[in-house]
Amino acid sequence: MSEHASDPAAISIQGLVKRYAGRKGGEGKLALEGVSFDVPQGQIFGLLGPNGAGKSTLINILAGLVRKTAGEVRIWGFAIDHDSRNAKRAIGIVPQEVVFDPFFSPAEVLELQAGYYGVPKAARRTMELLRAVHLADKADAYSRTLSGGMKRRLLIAKALVHAPPVLVLDEPTAGVDVELRRQLWELVRELNAEGMTVVLTTHYLEEAEQLCDRIAIINHGRLIANKPTRELVGMAREKIVVLTLDRDIVAEGRALPAHPDFVKCIATGERTLEITYDKDRTNAGQVLALIEGQGFAIVDVTTREADLEDVFVALTSAERQPA
Ligand code: ADP
Ligand code: MG
Repeated sequence: MSEHASDPAAISIQGLVKRYAGRKGGEGKLALEGVSFDVPQGQIFGLLGPNGAGKSTLINILAGLVRKTAGEVRIWGFAIDHDSRNAKRAIGIVPQEVVFDPFFSPAEVLELQAGYYGVPKAARRTMELLRAVHLADKADAYSRTLSGGMKRRLLIAKALVHAPPVLVLDEPTAGVDVELRRQLWELVRELNAEGMTVVLTTHYLEEAEQLCDRIAIINHGRLIANKPTRELVGMAREKIVVLTLDRDIVAEGRALPAHPDFVKCIATGERTLEITYDKDRTNAGQVLALIEGQGFAIVDVTTREADLEDVFVALTSAERQPA
């Protein structure tokens, strides 16, 4: 399919707006307020945001399940409204909920899906796909006998039946245990290594940080960041030193140390302080010297690097403030 791409982006989204219909014709929920971004080919791209941010709305527009209110969406160069047939063939979507007819076997589920997409018998890859998702030994089992993890993997195989160049997973690991999460990450990495562009939504920061080459953050229907993961994590300007003091300053009623270079200083225990500082303005050594200069004796020190969570909190709290 790749030879048809007239656009360097796997997915291109411009000014996407979705307003759901309200009750009795009233103004409904504005779920997407004009979102624009591109998903580069060959990447694992994370769409990150809290519950209710608009992630599933966006995915469902890609899937053709929700009709956009305004904006342009291209999948592999094909506009979803003018060229929906080609756009649909270019994408495989794994929905958030697991739904199956329990009486079909995994092999039958894939054969039916292939029929639905008009994939000729000779071109079907049922066993190859089952092997790819590590379900070859379950080919003829009833779907209802599969574990939760096996069902999720079968859904991924089902999304790949028509050999799309782009795979989209909506919250693939929401509510799954640690072991299954690792398995799904591994599978996503394998598919990407074979050249597949993967888009996944998640509200787990750690997942986006571990897995994605690039991350877009969406909050209240608006895109608030879109950067390579490493750059986004590097945006965290703040560092934190955790100090243990030699005495209980809370019981003594002593004022906490203060300095203009501290972003904040909080007592996290009777003898522990957490001081946040801007790493462009000062460093841990200077922070310690300032504290000791104010008459506090330090018995232990640890530092914490800011991570994606800190960036996320900073970006989403800035977003809440009125412009
Ligand atoms: P996410 O997947 O990021 O959790 P959603 O896209 O599901 O977010 O929801 C975004 C917003 O749109 C939420 O406020 C949600 O309540 C609303 N919403 C989602 N689906 C519908 C719908 N079918 N009708 C009306 N409002 C909806
Ligand atoms: Mg969702």
